[in-house]
Parts: sequence; C-alpha cells; structure tokens
Amino acid sequence: MVAILSKPSKMPGTSFSIPAQHCVTGSVLAKIPGSVCFECYALKGAYIWPSVQNAMEYRLDLLNSPDFVSVMVAELNRRRATEHRWWDSGDVHSVAHCLKIIAVCRLTPNKKHWIPTKERKLWQQALKMESLPDNAVIRYSATMIDKAPPKDWTNSSAVITDKAAPIGKLCEAYRTKKNGEMISHDEYETAKKEKQIGKIDLGYCGDCRACWSREVKTVSYPKH
Ligand code: SF4
Repeated sequence: MVAILSKPSKMPGTSFSIPAQHCVTGSVLAKIPGSVCFECYALKGAYIWPSVQNAMEYRLDLLNSPDFVSVMVAELNRRRATEHRWWDSGDVHSVAHCLKIIAVCRLTPNKKHWIPTKERKLWQQALKMESLPDNAVIRYSATMIDKAPPKDWTNSSAVITDKAAPIGKLCEAYRTKKNGEMISHDEYETAKKEKQIGKIDLGYCGDCRACWSREVKTVSYPKH
C-alpha cells in the first residue's frame, strides 16, 4: 500500500512527491551547471531507491487520474496537520495538473498550501481559468543560483551561496534545531570551520512558516 502523502522529517505538515525525472523545466535545468536544479537532491540518494521511485510513480499515476482531487482532499482531511507542501520532489507537468491542485486547495480551506514551482507559464495559463484560493501560495523559483527571481512574480524563491546577499527572507533552517532553538551565527561558522556541523541536528523549520505566507514575497534558501 503506497502512502499518498509523506511527512517531511524537518518541516511541519505533509508533502506530495512525484519523480523529479519527469520535471519539464527541471530536467533541462538539471543539466546546466549553476542552475538551482543542477545536482538536484531528488535525483540521487534515497530518492532513486526502487521502492521510493515506485511510490512516486504511483502518485504520478494518481495525479493523472480523474480521482486525484477527491483522493487528495480525503487524505489531507484525514491528517491533523494544517500545512501542506507540494513537491518535495517534482513539479506540475501541465495546466491540468495546476487546475487539479487549485481544486484541492479550494476544497481544503482549513489547510495551508505551499506550491513551489519552476513552471511559470503553466501556472499563468491555469490562473486565467481559475483563481488561487487564499490558503495557497505559488512560489516561483529563480532558475540560477545567486540570481534574484523577477520582481513581477507575486511570490518567489531563490537559492543563494555565501557570495550573494539573501533576497527577501533568509531561510534559517540551516541553524535551527529540532526544538526550534537557533544556534548563533558564530557557533554555526565555528562548527562549519571545524567540520563539526554534521554532528549537530539542524535544518528544522521551528516556528517559521514563511514559505506558506503570501506576506513573504521572496524566500532565499542557502545552498547546501
Ligand atoms: S523559510 Fe521558514 S518555512 Fe520555509 S523552509 Fe525555511 S524555515 Fe521552513
């Protein structure tokens, strides 16, 4: 039995993932050094284990099926979690996918949906047909590392190295512990310099929910 939703270990709420190998724009970017998809985490490690790939292929088939909206709404409503993140792997492939996701958001008004994407054109077409409900935010991703996303995008994200200043809100999960406490910048830098950073359990959202907030125009994620 394949679980339709996953539970990210370091983030609140639920997630939905499909194989990143099928990403439309992401598959092109994955071959371009310096792009945010180059060396994509979802194309290696545990993500490419056969059992994980099979589960994601199952979810992709579900996304393409006429039952997707009713199944997803029921699954989300079975969970207490209020936050849902689309795509810890994958992205929409078509306007039809976008419209189904809008329908799921509309039918789960008590949940907050964070929809990261690189498929701006597909979403633009979908949003001409259906408006986005207030409980959802579409965060368009800048395509290149250290580059700002276009300003006319309502909500967006960027990936930055220490060579560039963060654009908008800096994601501070990199120094946040499981209990929500943050280690100081000095502590972080010292641990990094001494190659001890891997021994500290970091990477949690804590109380931050910036990615789900329309009030936060751009979130910058430090490149790992
Ligand atoms: S910006 Fe906040 S909500 Fe988004 S990933 Fe980072 S810690 Fe989590």
